[in-house]
Amino acid sequence: MTNDNGRKDLLELGLSLETLAIRAGHTQTPELEHAEPIFPTSSYVYASAAEAAARFGGELPGNIYSRFTNPTVRAFEQRLAAMEGAERCVGTASGMAAILSTFIALLKAGDHIVCSRSVFGTTVVMLNKFMAKFGVETTFVDLNDMDQWQAAIRPETKMLFLEAPSNPLGGTADIAALAELAHSKDIWLAVDNCFCTPALQQPFKMGADIVIHSATKYLDGQGRCVGGAVLGSHELMEEVYGVLRTCGPSMSPFNAWVFLKGLETLNLRMQAHSSSALKLAQWLESQPQIEKVHYNGLVSHPQHELAAKQQSAFSGVLAFEVKGGQDEAWRFIDATQFMSITANLGDAKTTITHPATTTHGRLTPEEKVAAGITPNLIRVSVGLENVDDLQADLARGLAAI
Ligand SMILES: *Cc1c(COP(=O)(O)O)cnc(C)c1O
Repeated sequence: MTNDNGRKDLLELGLSLETLAIRAGHTQTPELEHAEPIFPTSSYVYASAAEAAARFGGELPGNIYSRFTNPTVRAFEQRLAAMEGAERCVGTASGMAAILSTFIALLKAGDHIVCSRSVFGTTVVMLNKFMAKFGVETTFVDLNDMDQWQAAIRPETKMLFLEAPSNPLGGTADIAALAELAHSKDIWLAVDNCFCTPALQQPFKMGADIVIHSATKYLDGQGRCVGGAVLGSHELMEEVYGVLRTCGPSMSPFNAWVFLKGLETLNLRMQAHSSSALKLAQWLESQPQIEKVHYNGLVSHPQHELAAKQQSAFSGVLAFEVKGGQDEAWRFIDATQFMSITANLGDAKTTITHPATTTHGRLTPEEKVAAGITPNLIRVSVGLENVDDLQADLARGLAAI
């Protein structure tokens, strides 16, 4: 990766994540621009027919068509790769496109995945409805039960897949132990790092082979664009890139530009989200109308110690159970006055939602019980508003129960 004006390669300078988030990935054009440019172009032109032939044939590196390469998307990919400590990143149209591209790049009919039960609901549907249709089977296991992970592995298993921390209860798994298990069986460990981002947790350092992001969440951080990313070795990412090139779930240059600017403030935002979420979680825990608070930054969380070992802070999503049932939970939500009633998360704007009837509404009653999605559970994605104002809005909710 080159720096501006022919200075030293940024990756050779041993820079920290905070600096890479702002500096990595931008190669200045002859215009000498300071901020990253957007290249909203579908295709590229060549000096001659021979040059075009050489580019298409792969003998000359360079752009061909924005389904496969675009300079703005590449800048985003290089910046995020530097931050996660990955050899290569592939930007995708959405977080789900990142997950799908990973699966279809690396798995074939007859293969098997072991997946945490507590992953994003749409990931479960993708595995059960679509991957199954093409002959890839999945076994779901409890996120933090190593025995279940181990027992579920078969000769056809190719990948362990998890999301940590999990949504909405903040469960986590020992990523290093799972990496060791995967590698002892010669299979891959893939981690959806959406909730922590590289600012708080770096799965490659713990041995993961693949890291997946929904850039829609904290990487953008202001709820503007949908996008995703897959990261890993050159060898694995060449396969994922091949899916994009052929099947087309590619990131748009405009979205890549928004995400590039999002990454510049990621570290500061994640610190602020985490600090406010911890304060609110501690305050909620002391309120008599609250039965239980789920936030792995709280000492009371069953996996607090593991989370503290793997994460530098605890991110912005917390959940809590109010005393009562769905009526009380809905009354709480409806009594708040400025937080957004929506299921999105990872935004500067605080959001509040009732998982049992929104994000997890498609689960059967038994699946809800297994996932801990009780009728009195409320999830808050703590944004960047003043924390006292947020506490006051939650207090309105409490008063309405
Ligand atoms: C939102 C989300 C996704 C899906 O991402 P999209 O950008 O909405 O496609 C995947 N994993 C996690 C953990 C998410 O929160």
